[in-house]
Amino acid sequence: METADVVVIGAGVIGLACASALAAAGRDVLIVEREHCIGSGISSRNSEVIHAGLYYPPGSLKAQLCVEGRQRLYAYCAQRGVAHARCGKLVVASREAQLDALQAIAGRAHRNGVDNLRLFGRAEIAEFEPALDAEAALLSPSTGIVDSHGLMMALLGDAESRGTMLALGSPVIGGNTDGDGVVLEIGGEAPTMLRARWVINSAGLDAVALGRAIRCAASTQAPEAHFARGVYFSYSGKAPFSRLIYPIPEPGGLGVHLTLDLSGQARFGPDVEWIDRPDYHVDPSRTARFATAIRNWWPALDAERLQPGYAGVRPKIVGPGQADADFRIDGPARHGVAGLIHLYGIESPGLTASLAIGAHVAKLVNS
Ligand SMILES: Cc1cc2nc3c(=O)[nH]c(=O)nc-3n(C[C@H](O)[C@H](O)[C@H](O)COP(=O)(O)OP(=O)(O)OC[C@H]3O[C@@H](n4cnc5c(N)ncnc54)[C@H](O)[C@@H]3O)c2cc1C
Repeated sequence: METADVVVIGAGVIGLACASALAAAGRDVLIVEREHCIGSGISSRNSEVIHAGLYYPPGSLKAQLCVEGRQRLYAYCAQRGVAHARCGKLVVASREAQLDALQAIAGRAHRNGVDNLRLFGRAEIAEFEPALDAEAALLSPSTGIVDSHGLMMALLGDAESRGTMLALGSPVIGGNTDGDGVVLEIGGEAPTMLRARWVINSAGLDAVALGRAIRCAASTQAPEAHFARGVYFSYSGKAPFSRLIYPIPEPGGLGVHLTLDLSGQARFGPDVEWIDRPDYHVDPSRTARFATAIRNWWPALDAERLQPGYAGVRPKIVGPGQADADFRIDGPARHGVAGLIHLYGIESPGLTASLAIGAHVAKLVNS
């Protein structure tokens, strides 16, 4: 049987951030990835927004790791030359009835340590985003966008420069613990058994299934897996906005919003649709629903310019109608099994929080 110090399962942004932080903390790391390339899961199907940390319950892991992760991410991108832009975002109240909700977001953001929000009324908004129809808007200057693939390549490069190995085409299909580490069964073209002192399960949409498949006392504590698809529509031509535009959040997601990529191209989404298993189909018939949602704050939208784009799937650990769950980073202190860390429910703001999650995991391993 082969042996390893730390095995990270999954080469998405979370696994890569963990590997990079663990390697920097002096650990020997092996990343095992089911696919033949890195970052083909959730990490390449999102909005690429660096979130400020406005929405999450104060004290939650989401709030703490988003705020810390955002600060780390801006510094890392600047240092490593990863493309990004601190473009800012507006959260809009399109009707007077939404003003209380806007104030509640401002209050929650303040409790999360986000102190630079500014509230604008209709007349002021008309001066700097004239196409936007809103009673009021909160400006979040710390919100930005990042090239998620550039980020993943930089993290992989950092990890590899410190000796980390990456095994592509290597699906983990099961495992167990035997008191002397965690034993993983690897499938694929070169099946093997691997014993590790530590295993980090950062398998994204498959993390819960894997949490059950690695048989030990922790398996019974795996949450339920639920999936919520979000589709995006691209916009042909130039949209008349220079900041990201978000409505008041809706259950399960942040509402159909406008994000810009690094070339300034607009896309709209993601919406929220609960599905039984991951599936990336974009149904063109959703155009009308998107157009209605967007016209709440951009009445002049030309719906003919909306084109079906791509879809992403959120790794939810609660089902429809339930309050959003916090990230779960289940280490030995929670489940009692030495050498095992499961990362469950790493949905948004996981990209923003990735470097903080990596640091948190490295601390758990080296404590
Ligand atoms: C629609 C949408 C929009 C989002 N927008 C934002 C945003 O704007 N800002 C933000 O901060 N966050 C956003 N997020 C969240 C963010 O994208 C995720 O939190 C993050 O990408 C999760 O990364 P990951 O590494 O956990 O998962 P993944 O990127 O899915 O990586 C998991 C990896 O594990 C591999 N794997 C799975 N099973 C196995 C196995 N058995 N053996 C080996 N390998 C395996 C997969 O192939 C995959 O490569 C969004 C998410 C969604 C769905």
